Amino acid sequence: MNDRLNFIPCGYVSISQTGMVTEVNHTFLEWMGYTEEDLVQRHFESIMSPANKLIFHTHFYPYIRLNGHVEELFLSLKDSTGQLIPFILNGRRFEIDGVEVIDCILVQMGKRIDYERELWAAKNQIEKAYLEQEQALAKLKNIHMEIEKKQAELVEYNATLKELSVTDKLTGLKNRRFFQERLEGCIARHSKTGQLFSVLIIDIDHFKKVNDTFGHQAGDDVLKQLADTLTEHSHDKDTIARLGGEEFVIILPGTDAHTAKSKAEALRFVVEHAEWRIVHITVSIGVATMTLEDSDLTLLNKADQALYVSKENGRNRVTHYEDISNLHPQLYMLDK
Ligand code: GH3
Ligand code: MG
Ligand code: MG
Repeated sequence: MNDRLNFIPCGYVSISQTGMVTEVNHTFLEWMGYTEEDLVQRHFESIMSPANKLIFHTHFYPYIRLNGHVEELFLSLKDSTGQLIPFILNGRRFEIDGVEVIDCILVQMGKRIDYERELWAAKNQIEKAYLEQEQALAKLKNIHMEIEKKQAELVEYNATLKELSVTDKLTGLKNRRFFQERLEGCIARHSKTGQLFSVLIIDIDHFKKVNDTFGHQAGDDVLKQLADTLTEHSHDKDTIARLGGEEFVIILPGTDAHTAKSKAEALRFVVEHAEWRIVHITVSIGVATMTLEDSDLTLLNKADQALYVSKENGRNRVTHYEDISNLHPQLYMLDK
């Protein structure tokens, strides 16, 4: 064998028809840690694992006999320490002086397999990272949904709190605070647009007696029934509130003195003729209609004075401030 073939950077093994090694180059011996004596005149299969021997017999020999050559056959060969080294083998069969010879070129695959393993590991890592990312995203989505749900709950809770802060607990009507705000709103609109409105103060007659006779609980029930009755016979645009105790107030937007008086009278009538669960009651009502000189205080004061006159005149009646101020202007002069 000439030096160039001996030291060529690939393994060269020549075998006979029966697989006996006849020649082997230095490169292959050096890679595998063998001497020439270890391999020459021995079967090439002697350095193959049983599985590789099988491949060699079922694939290599039949193929090379049929086609004269074999390309890119993957084989693992045992080195002198018994370790399996992967190779790619190309083989060619030809005859020299009527004797069949098979020349094989072997290129080591170890590095390529290492690269493949590295690539495989990197691919697995990327897939794992993707999976983790997807899981993290799903988790984040869940957290996001949870936050949105909590925010919606909070908005609802705030609305409930706001509603509670302006609601009278016993009757479910609006409370004094809400009434005050609404009254100020109506006054502002009146000064801007001149839109009239009236206020009714409604007070149960002799309510103390109800409590004294039937008990506080029964008194509460009467207050609730009166609240329901007033609501049932008022418009949606009217603001009905409980001022406190057994005193209620209604703002009638866009309502002049005459209409306010009629509405108050209608309510008084309804209460007088209602079917009461505990005890029959009546109410006295004081009415006042907004004028340009009025503030919230003076308007309420006027309605209160009218209520006082309703009580004085025997209860279960309606009085408008206009009527009493016309009768006794001095008596009902307000402190301004
Ligand atoms: P008048 O016809 O002059 O208005 O007489 P009155 O008895 O209705 O008036 P008074 O101011 O003397 O008594 C009001 C009563 O209302 C006294 C109080 O015990 C009762 N009251 C106030 N708030 C409540 C309540 O929330 N529940 C009950 N059951 N009674 C209440
Ligand atoms: Mg009363
Ligand atoms: Mg009262």
